[in-house]
Amino acid sequence: MTTYALQTRNLVKKFGGFVATNDVSLNVEAGARHALIGPNGAGKTTLINLLTGFLEPTSGEVILNGDTVTHLAQHQRVKRGLARTFQINRLFAELTVLESVTMAVNERIGIGARFWRPVGAYAEAVDEAASLLSTLRLLDLAHEKTRNLAYGKQRLIEIALALAMKPRVLLLDEPAAGVPTSESRELFETIAALPRDVTILLIEHDMDLVFRFADCISVLVSGALLTGGTPDEIANNPKVKEVYLGEAISV
Ligand code: ADP
Ligand code: MG
Repeated sequence: MTTYALQTRNLVKKFGGFVATNDVSLNVEAGARHALIGPNGAGKTTLINLLTGFLEPTSGEVILNGDTVTHLAQHQRVKRGLARTFQINRLFAELTVLESVTMAVNERIGIGARFWRPVGAYAEAVDEAASLLSTLRLLDLAHEKTRNLAYGKQRLIEIALALAMKPRVLLLDEPAAGVPTSESRELFETIAALPRDVTILLIEHDMDLVFRFADCISVLVSGALLTGGTPDEIANNPKVKEVYLGEAISV
């Protein structure tokens, strides 16, 4: 039987009279590398915001690991294993990569940031942070200050901070946005290689990256799901080709 990590049922979000999310029933399988694609303004970011609880839906349900979380606050969803990336806090700019991730681990295990105690006071948290850095191929940068890193590496640290929450589902809204092409493929390969116990739903507009990364693709158009399927099915779907007329979709 298929297990779903994340689902929506008939999800609707209206901004005034404008329907940004139109009756979306999405199923994200546990362990999937699932991509959400669609033209600009299709409602991709709105859908992610509904999933995280940043926005309240007008109607419909959000289901996380089988439980309805539609009306839970963002932090409650994080506690239940739903994480998204966030831009690096200014506070982290002066810290090293290892210190930043250790701080996020401390936060999860409830030690939090205490100014009278060095970030690395808890060896277990440091070990966990180092192991996360190793997963993300960042270990050689552990003692660099985050602000000195290339943009693609900074995005990976944002992902490390999210992973420090031990999520079961990770939501990524255009993780390669602003990252030079020379770095974006490596960034995506690293994301794709994350352990499969973390389900990943991501938005990306670069079809090359999407088709390398995803094992499942959902296509959103004008707020509604047009179709979903394997990369092969999506690449050969005439309706999708019509939406992306002029853009090269190749597997
Ligand atoms: P995408 O991420 O696919 O580019 P968005 O989810 O950002 O699309 O936006 C979908 C549509 O909803 C757009 O037409 C956008 O202008 C509109 N929209 C998004 N957020 C709001 C808001 N807070 N208020 C009004 N309209 C919004
Ligand atoms: Mg968007």
